[in-house]
Amino acid sequence: MEKEELWHTVLAKLELDISRPNFLTWFQETGIMHLEDGVATISVPNIFVKEWLQNKYHKVILHTLRAITPDVKDLVYNIGKLDDAAGFPFIRHHGAPRKKMFSPQFIEDALAIKDLAVNPITNLNPRYTFDSFIVGSFNELAHAAAQSVIKNPGLAYNPFFIYGGVGLGKTHLMQAVGNEILRYSPSAKIRYVPSERYMGEIVEALKTQQMNKLKDKYREVDLLVVDDIQFIARTEKMQEEFFHTFNTLYERNKQIIISSDRPPHAISTLEERLRSRFEGGMIADIGLPDFETRLLILKTKIDVKKADVPEEVLRYLAEKIKNNIRELEGALNRVIIESKVSNAPITVDTAKKSVLSHLAAPKKFISAKKIIKAVAEFYDMDERELLRRSRKKDVVRPRQIAMYLMREELKSSYPSIGDKFGGRDHTTAIHSCEKVAKDLLANPEFEEEIRAIRDKVFAK
Ligand code: ADP
Ligand code: MG
Repeated sequence: MEKEELWHTVLAKLELDISRPNFLTWFQETGIMHLEDGVATISVPNIFVKEWLQNKYHKVILHTLRAITPDVKDLVYNIGKLDDAAGFPFIRHHGAPRKKMFSPQFIEDALAIKDLAVNPITNLNPRYTFDSFIVGSFNELAHAAAQSVIKNPGLAYNPFFIYGGVGLGKTHLMQAVGNEILRYSPSAKIRYVPSERYMGEIVEALKTQQMNKLKDKYREVDLLVVDDIQFIARTEKMQEEFFHTFNTLYERNKQIIISSDRPPHAISTLEERLRSRFEGGMIADIGLPDFETRLLILKTKIDVKKADVPEEVLRYLAEKIKNNIRELEGALNRVIIESKVSNAPITVDTAKKSVLSHLAAPKKFISAKKIIKAVAEFYDMDERELLRRSRKKDVVRPRQIAMYLMREELKSSYPSIGDKFGGRDHTTAIHSCEKVAKDLLANPEFEEEIRAIRDKVFAK
C-alpha cells in the first residue's frame, strides 16, 4: 500500500472515533513522510499539534496503523512543510477529499518564482516584460503596434486600444510597454491603473474632497495605461471624468493605452464621444494562440521555473488548454507542484488527473435552456409563454432579461437570440439587451434582481 493511501485509511478510521472539531483541529494537516524499518514518520504542521498527538493520540494512531500494516513498530512526529511529506494534506469530509491548499510561500518555493514588488509610483509589475512575452500570429499586430508606441510615445498611435479575451496577455503587453519606456527614460511619468481601481479612487477622492489632487495624479503623466476600460462604461459620471483626463493628455501628446475585453463599438454603454476618441487611435486585438505557440509558451515557462517537465506532458497541456494563457500556466504550475508534493515523476497520466480534476470542479455548464428555465421560474410563468410572440407587458420584461442573459453569459449572436424567441428579428434582440443594460445602470435594485436570476441559472 502506498504511504498516502495508508495514511488516508488511518484518518478514515480515526475520524469515526473522534469528534469532528477535534479531528479537524489535530489531523487536518498531517501526513506520512516515510515508513522505514518499522518506524513511521508523521508530518505535523507545528509544535502544538506534535505535542498533542504525542500525548493524546499516540497509542490510537499506532494501533490503527498496525491494524493495517502489522510491521509498524513505532511512530515519530516531524514538524515539516508539505513538500517534505509524501502524503497530500488530506482529510475526509463527507467522503470527499479536502481541496489541497498550498500556501503562497510554498508555491513560490516549489516553483522558484519570486515576484518582484510592484513599483509603487507607476504601479507597474516588473515581471511583465517583452523578454517573457511570446509573439505569435494571435498577437503580432498588437505587439507590433506596442513597439511603435515605445519608439514614439504619444505620436505613433494615440490612443492605443487593445482588446481580447481573458488571460490572453493584454495586461502583460500594456505593462511591458510601460516597463520598456521606463527603461529608456527612467524619469518618464507612467501610471498603470485598472479601471475599477480608478473608479474607486474617484469615489474616495470625492468623499475626502481631494478631487483636484486625483486629477493631477492622472493628468500629469507621460503615459497613462487604463486596464479593462469596459467597467468605466457602466456609469456616466465616471465616463465624464475619464473623458476630461483623456482629453487633457491627448492634447498634450501624452500616450494613452487602453484595454478592454471587446472593441469600443461593442461596449454598449460607452458614450459616443469616448468611442469616437478610442476609434481615432490604433485598435489591435489579441486572438487565441495556436498549438505551437501554446507549446512554446509552456517551454519558456519551464525554463524560468527550472522545472523538468517531459515534452509529451507539455504537448498534452497545450492540447487541452486552448483559450487562456493564464490557465495554461496555472495547469503547468499545478502539475509541477503536485509532483513535488507527492514526490512522483511528472507523466502524461498525472497531468491528465491534475487537469481533469481541476476542470471538473468550478466550471458549470450553462445553456439557453437553463436561462429560460431560470427566468420563467423567477417570474413564476410558463416557459412557453416566454418564447411566444406575445406583447403582454408582464411577458415582455422577462423575455428581455432572458435575451440579455443569453447575450452576456453565452455570448450568443443577436440573430440566434431572436430566433430562439419565436423567430424575432435581430434588431429586437439588440433592443432588448440594450434596454436591460440601460435599466441596470439606472436602477440598483434591478441589478439585484438580475443577480438573483443569474444565481438561479448557475444553480441549475
Ligand atoms: P489579460 O490581461 O488579457 O487577462 P494577462 O496579461 O493577465 O491577460 O495574462 C495572463 C497570464 O498569461 C500572465 O501570467 C501573462 O504573463 C501570461 N501571458 C499572456 N500572454 C503571454 C505571452 N504572449 N507570452 C507569455 N506569457 C503570456
Ligand atoms: Mg488583464
